[in-house]
Amino acid sequence: MDERLRKIINDSKNVVFFGGAGVSTESNIPDFRSEEGLYNAKNKYGLSPEEMISHSFYLKNTETFFKYYKENLIYREAEPNKAHIALAKLEEEGKVKAVITQNIDGLHQLAGSKKVHELHGSVHRNYCTECDSFYDLEFIMDEKNCESHIPICPKCGGIIKPDVVLYEEPLRESVINEAVMAIMNADTLIIGGTSLVVYPAAGLITYFKGKNLVLINKSKTPYDNRADLVINDNIGKVMGD
Ligand code: ZN
Repeated sequence: MDERLRKIINDSKNVVFFGGAGVSTESNIPDFRSEEGLYNAKNKYGLSPEEMISHSFYLKNTETFFKYYKENLIYREAEPNKAHIALAKLEEEGKVKAVITQNIDGLHQLAGSKKVHELHGSVHRNYCTECDSFYDLEFIMDEKNCESHIPICPKCGGIIKPDVVLYEEPLRESVINEAVMAIMNADTLIIGGTSLVVYPAAGLITYFKGKNLVLINKSKTPYDNRADLVINDNIGKVMGD
């Protein structure tokens, strides 16, 4: 781990980590909003990724929604990287009190983190829109359980919808509240893998009243001048070993 970061963590009692897409890209999960993702979506479907995974598109073109979703947002072979592993270990040691993530891949939990606030939900939770029955990722990815890519509840015939916040859908209030509380109680906030320009990241940061603000991102962010430590590098490299 970066020595400056290690010193800050050692001197802290309540560390909260807020992570963006950059945390997952290091586990080889491409950011579907990246230029390449944008190009792929436009090329194949004539729409932007944001349009493809919007609530209205889900309602109108459910079949194409699921096709795109399964092709572009699901990476079942992905494994936690050094950043996920370091955060899980720091939680076990009592340093990290919460992880707040914009990612939907569940890699923090796979690494062993317990207190994870998933702002955009998780691909691992899926619920029948009719009877609310739970289904895991394996179930909805198995085409045997689907009708033209659309997962169908065997109990009632309803459509199974991923517990992922789509564009046009509001974030879940309870999750935001938990994230805000965690940030308000933190003495150190580490923000990694996000350029902090998109909602809700930029808004959440204003709740932080603690001592150390650490920004780890490959490129500059609008908050660099407010931070106590800025590291422009890969998050796995900064937090690992
Ligand atoms: Zn059902």
